[in-house]
Amino acid sequence: MRVLIAEDEPISRRLLHAALTQMGYDVTATADGREAWEVLQREDIGLVVADWMMADVDGLELVRRIRDREADHYVYVILLTSRAEKQDIVRGLEAGADDYITKPFDRAELAVRVNCGRRIIDLERQLADKNRQLAGMAMMDGLTGILNRRAFDDALERSHRHSRRYGHQYSLGMIDIDHFKAYNDRFGHAAGDTVLRTVAQTLRGSLRPSDLVFRYGGEEFVCLFPETDREGALAAATRLLQAVTDVAIAHPGNQSFGIVTVSIGIATQAPANGGGPLDLLQAADVALFEAKHSGRNRVAVYRAVADGRPAGPEPTAAPTHHGI
Ligand code: GH3
Ligand code: MG
Ligand code: MG
Ligand code: MG
Repeated sequence: MRVLIAEDEPISRRLLHAALTQMGYDVTATADGREAWEVLQREDIGLVVADWMMADVDGLELVRRIRDREADHYVYVILLTSRAEKQDIVRGLEAGADDYITKPFDRAELAVRVNCGRRIIDLERQLADKNRQLAGMAMMDGLTGILNRRAFDDALERSHRHSRRYGHQYSLGMIDIDHFKAYNDRFGHAAGDTVLRTVAQTLRGSLRPSDLVFRYGGEEFVCLFPETDREGALAAATRLLQAVTDVAIAHPGNQSFGIVTVSIGIATQAPANGGGPLDLLQAADVALFEAKHSGRNRVAVYRAVADGRPAGPEPTAAPTHHGI
């Protein structure tokens, strides 16, 4: 943990620096509140020892600024004051200081109070780590280990806003395992789960780093292709199709192919299209339906969206198919 000192008296500053360094802390020492405030903007400071009386930005003002700013972690503040009067101490604590030490400071007392602050900061950081971990878990699908529906909803919303603002295209691919019910019926749900995991990992492993795949629900997945036009999405989806058939998992119930295959429907959002993210999703679904009904194990493109007309439940042009 890095400790920041703000103290205008050189001797006191040097003593503090020596004491805190000896306690094992990384120390940055500044001579006034303004300089301390600048250091706080660029360094990862866990604890501040600030003198109350300083020219310009004093200790009290520094505390107020620290508490007013938006920071991603807590900063523990100890005020250093020669004012031992109760009223002053109350003001300091009210302004947001966590603790105070009266000058001239006692080394043992300084050590105890700083260690107390360190415990708080350590706890706060552990909690923040846990929260980040939990937030990450809330976005993961437990069975397949890829991103889940909630993560997709967020990502889709973001992509759409980005597309609107910058006039860029993006594409979606709805992916559905072919005749999966027959696989479960024949081999059981546990074997079906294994297939879901394998397909999910295969899809993820075949995407470019900028593209994302999510488990949409059941045996359906959805890919988000940022900054990607129809041709790009078609090429990526064709690669996905190929990657799944390359794994060649036996699936007798998928009679035309004998192995596990997927069908993919893609739709592209061009800025001129209008429509919301759900319209695009629906368009990808329409294309998926078309891929299913024209033989499965293929990609269908939703032409109506790609041609610049708004997505709708009734496309005016039929999707085209790209089998392998
Ligand atoms: P189609 O080619 O038309 O998509 O046929 P399908 O059999 O794949 O479609 P249908 O919607 O009839 O069946 C989907 C199956 O997916 C039914 C369900 O048992 C299975 N499924 C959904 N979620 C899971 C899951 O988490 N684990 C397993 N093992 N199976 C699942
Ligand atoms: Mg002073
Ligand atoms: Mg399905
Ligand atoms: Mg299916």
